[in-house]
Amino acid sequence: MQPMSEAPFETALAERVEKMLDACTQCGKCVEVCPSVEPAGISDTKSEDVIGGILELVRTGNGPEASRKWAQSCMQSGECIKACDYGVNPRFLLSMARLGIAKSEVRQ
Ligand code: SF4
Repeated sequence: MQPMSEAPFETALAERVEKMLDACTQCGKCVEVCPSVEPAGISDTKSEDVIGGILELVRTGNGPEASRKWAQSCMQSGECIKACDYGVNPRFLLSMARLGIAKSEVRQ
């Protein structure tokens, strides 16, 4: 018997995530315009590094502290979406990063 394939929704989601990971240039603009950066206490971290860590969290569930804090402090302003010139939805990536963190905590 064939192994059960992934549900269509999960496949579509994985494809959407993959496209965004590929499209992101890690320019950091989404971080620069984000109103959550200041309250999260991560303004001293380079924007490029913060988003770079988000991509890591999405891929592996592991990543730097500043990126974890950013992902957890999202207040859904949507400013990042307007700032991105590459059609990426950073707010969606942050929710995928939170999912990555949650999954890696379950595995531990
Ligand atoms: S999501 Fe968009 S704005 Fe943010 S770093 Fe990637 S390319 Fe730049």
